[in-house]
Amino acid sequence: MQCPYCGKEMTKGFLGVESSRVSWTFWLEHDYLMKHTFLPVTKKKMQEAGGYVIPFGNGINTAPNTFYVCRDCGKMIGDLKTEP
Ligand SMILES: [Zn+2]
Repeated sequence: MQCPYCGKEMTKGFLGVESSRVSWTFWLEHDYLMKHTFLPVTKKKMQEAGGYVIPFGNGINTAPNTFYVCRDCGKMIGDLKTEP
C-alpha cells in the first residue's frame, strides 16, 4: 500500500497491546468529548455514540487486525471493522 500523504510504500503490521486484558481501543468524535463527562464504557455504547471500536489482534489467540504504517511520515492506516 502506498502512503496517501507522501507516496512511499507503507509497512504492513498489526495493531496490538502488551497486556492481554485489553482487546480494543476506540476512535471518537472530538465533539462527543466536549459534550460528555464520561466515555462510553462498552463496545455497544461506543458504537451508539458514533465511535469506532478498533480491535487489537496478535494473530495468536486473537485475529490479526492489519494496519499499515508509513515509516517516512508517521501515518497509520487500518481497518475499522468491528469484531465479529
Ligand atoms: Zn507517508
